[in-house]
Amino acid sequence: MNDAVDNTWTECAIAMGSNLGDREGRLRGAVEAIASTPGVRNVRVSSFHETEPVGPITQGLFINAAAIIETTLSARALLERLHEIERTHGRERSDGQRWGPRTLDLDLLLYADAKINEPGLTVPHPRMHERRFVLAPLAELVPSWPVPHKGQTIGGLLASLDA
Ligand code: ATP
Ligand code: CA
Ligand code: CA
Repeated sequence: MNDAVDNTWTECAIAMGSNLGDREGRLRGAVEAIASTPGVRNVRVSSFHETEPVGPITQGLFINAAAIIETTLSARALLERLHEIERTHGRERSDGQRWGPRTLDLDLLLYADAKINEPGLTVPHPRMHERRFVLAPLAELVPSWPVPHKGQTIGGLLASLDA
């Protein structure tokens, strides 16, 4: 394969979470679906972290993980694919509330060094820097990845949560 072809692959970070039903099974299914998507290669997955829910709604513990992939998909096409995987893996919300319990949540965190601010698509994910349940799994894989807008790496952002 020559360099021109290689250059079409973009490294991305994805956050995964589940707090309903077979949480680990949902995440494993999501990883398989992501890895079998045409235009996705070199999928690497963090360990699974059991985490306390954050926010105003009383709900069960989450399992969170992060994945790094390479893709030829655009950020928009990748997010659409993540939404499709959420649907096919039974995304359900008990009451339709944002930040409530869900069988599967897949967020696009980083798309190389891109800054995107469009309707329905913001990258880097606008709340990733304040979330330990996102940064801790991601730091296992890419601690030195610089986060656009933040002037810090993933590992640096995680450390600053402890400061
Ligand atoms: P949060 O975004 O705070 O993690 P959430 O994951 O519960 O909350 P959702 O209801 O899953 O929020 O998504 C709300 C909207 O966010 C979706 O319609 C989606 O299009 C939009 N969105 C914008 N940028 C992103 C991104 N980078 N990753 C995932 N969804 C995004
Ligand atoms: Ca989310
Ligand atoms: Ca989401």
